Order: sequence, then structure tokens, then C-alpha cells
Amino acid sequence: MFDCAATVAGVPDQDTLCDLLTAVLDVLSGADLDEVDSAALGAHIALLHRQTQRLQAERLRRLAAHDRRVAWRSAGARSAKEWLSSACGLTRGEAAGQVQTAQQLSELPATSARLAAGEMTLGQARVVTSTASRAPVADRAELDRMAAETVDQGTDTGRLRTAVDDWAHRCDARLLADRREAAYRRRSATFGRGGDGSVTINARMDPLSGEMWLTAMEALSAPAGEADARTPEQRRADAMAELARRGLDSGDLPLVGGQRPHVTVTVDVATLQGLGGGPPPRFDYGGAVCTETARMLACDAAVTRVIMAGVSQPLDVGRASRTVTAAQRRALITRDGCCRGCGAPPGWCVAHHIVHWVNGGATDLANLALLCWTCHDNVHHRGWTLKQDSDRRWTLQPPASLGRQPISRLRTTPAAPPRTPSPSTRPGGHGGPQGPSRHVRRTDRPP
Ligand SMILES: [Zn+2]
Ligand SMILES: [Zn+2]
Repeated sequence: MFDCAATVAGVPDQDTLCDLLTAVLDVLSGADLDEVDSAALGAHIALLHRQTQRLQAERLRRLAAHDRRVAWRSAGARSAKEWLSSACGLTRGEAAGQVQTAQQLSELPATSARLAAGEMTLGQARVVTSTASRAPVADRAELDRMAAETVDQGTDTGRLRTAVDDWAHRCDARLLADRREAAYRRRSATFGRGGDGSVTINARMDPLSGEMWLTAMEALSAPAGEADARTPEQRRADAMAELARRGLDSGDLPLVGGQRPHVTVTVDVATLQGLGGGPPPRFDYGGAVCTETARMLACDAAVTRVIMAGVSQPLDVGRASRTVTAAQRRALITRDGCCRGCGAPPGWCVAHHIVHWVNGGATDLANLALLCWTCHDNVHHRGWTLKQDSDRRWTLQPPASLGRQPISRLRTTPAAPPRTPSPSTRPGGHGGPQGPSRHVRRTDRPP
């Protein structure tokens, strides 16, 4: 099957060994896994994981040797990073990181040996190399020994990082300060938009900013009771949205174009009433959204009436008026006390119209219910409904298709006491003088 002609004293040469490796992977990846029993499959996964680590180590060992010989120059590249990026299809940043790790590992024999034996993961090795690169040359051997001994005792990446950080601080307190500065210089945030209208966020922060962010996320992303079916990833995404909403509602953000920053959706009255045929609602930044999102925002927002002449010519712009007044909100908080779906405190909540005002529903207490952002979203987009109990208070019911109980914060923790918002302590800013941070521009055709 394999051509092993090119051997020296029975040991195949390096090219033949690499061909063998490729051939073995070809055979493995072509195998019918239905023929393999589950126990063997599990053992194979563990073995392949370990061998993947070993392959990574060997690749980096060869990369370091290639770099030491400056072999990239004869391939026409200007640096090892440029050569690796082109040869392996990596970004410049990825290639730079790998060249650096390879160079540093070649100076850390104990760490390299653990990596080559599959006893240490590449992530763990990077914990060691990133600190070694900043440590005084004379101290690197000690770090290498300490890290290898820690791994030999059977530790995970988190505990190895703690041990390496402790060592760095003992060795020279400036090491952690330098690392912090490097992280600060590399800080960045990028935003993208998916084809489905979703927004993606990719951020890198210095340790302190990251700690503030993680602390805020922790506070806002706890499960809302046992029946909360959201994944941790979904809860964190909801927490990020909640943090942005609170920032906007606080009224403390700098003005943009002379106005308090707010989410604006522009929507035709007929569309808002649920009639088809018109243009879709549009966000100022994000483009078209579904009608129900506009109706959800319009439940509790400032609304400006714009009379249009033609599709894009505003003829007359009216004053913004609030759909729910501060007095109505205070009365609603006194009656409902908390989110009627999950028990979230009033600072997290908006006023939902049971019968939407655009369909003739009155903005008075009998037609309003206090709902947190998540529960409000469930009502407008996912078919959750409100039922009135004997105290004339509303409770939220999931659609029958979900077949589960409402989110149970109402039952597991006592509801927050009703609070009366004031400008100095306004919860989420809803009751403050600034008005809600959601704005609906309602467009009408001229009569
Ligand atoms: Zn809720
Ligand atoms: Zn609503």
C-alpha cells in the first residue's frame, strides 16, 4: 500500500513519513463510522485529540527550525509570518502568533516535551510562552520547569494560568503590568451584520475593562428560574442587549445630533395597524424589520407623526408624544409590582398594551401590563399571552406548543417592592424627565 523504498536502515525518510500520515488520515476519514461501536468511537476521539496536540507541537517545532534557517527568504517571502500566512492560508495575525509561539517554545524544553508527548494542550503551552516572552532570559528556565511540574500534577488551563501569573508576579511585578499594557494596546471591537439582519460583535479588552464587562454580564445573565430554557449563550446575548437598553434609558449618554440617543423605527400607520401592502418598518441604522418589532417598540415609546407627500417627502412633522405618561407608569408599577411574566423588577420593564393603541386600545391601566424586555419580546414575537387573575393583574402564559410552565422567577423569589421612579433614582430611566429611549416615526399619507 505504501511505498517505503526511500529508507535508511529501515527508518522511512521524513517525506515518506509525512505521506504515510496523509495516507492514514485518508483511510480513517473514509471509514464507515456506523461499523464502529460507541466505546471504540469514544476511545478514538480521546486518542485523536491527544495526537492532534502532538501534531500541533511537531508543526511548531518544524516552523521554528524553518525560521531559524531563514528558509522563508528563499521562498520569496519577507518574513516567517508572511511565508506562513501564504503557505497555510492564515491571517497575518494568526501567522504572527504561531511564529512567536514556535520561537518561544524552542527555548522552553520542558514545556515543548510535554506538548510533543500530548501531555499539555497548545492553549496551556501558550499560557507559558506568553509569560516567558516577557520574563528576563535568566528566569525563563525556572518558569519552564515550574509550568512542566504543574502540568505533571494534572492541572487544567485555568489553574496553570493562576500558577504562571503567581510566578510572574513573584519574579518581577512589572511582568503583569507589561502584559496589561500589551492587552490595552490590542483592544478592539468590531461589529458586523449577518444576512438574517443579526448583529455580530467581536471585542478584545484589557483585563480591567473585561472584568467590568464580565461582572455586568454576570449580574444580568442569571437564569430566570428553573424553567428558563435559554442557553448560556442566549442569556449572555440578552444581557448585552439589556446593558445597552439601560445605557440608553439612563439618559446619561452624550447627545447625538443634539438629541438623546434612542432607537428609531419609521413605520407607515397602515403597516403598524397590521395591514399588508405597505413598506416594511425601518430602523435608522439596521434597515427593514418585521411589523411586530415596530408594534413592540410602539407599545411604550415616543411617537412622532410625520405626514408624507409621496414616498420620501415629509410634508409635516408633529411633536413627539409619549404613549405612556410618567403618571400612568407609576400607577402601573404600583399595581403590577414587577414583570408579570418573570418577576423582574420594574426598572427592567416596559408598559405593554394588551390591545395595541394603534388598533384602538386605550392607554389606561386596564389595558396595560408591566413586562420585562424578554417577556415583552415573547408576547410580540413568540405567541405568549396575558391572562387576568382575580386581582385584575396579568400573568403571562406560554403558547400551548411550548408545553412548559411560565418562567418561574415569580414563584422562586419574592417580587421586588413597587418603586416610584424619580429623576434621581429612576429605574432604567423610564419615569425620568428624558422619556423612553425608543422612538417611533409614524408616517401618514396626506388626506
Ligand atoms: Zn419578564
Ligand atoms: Zn407590547
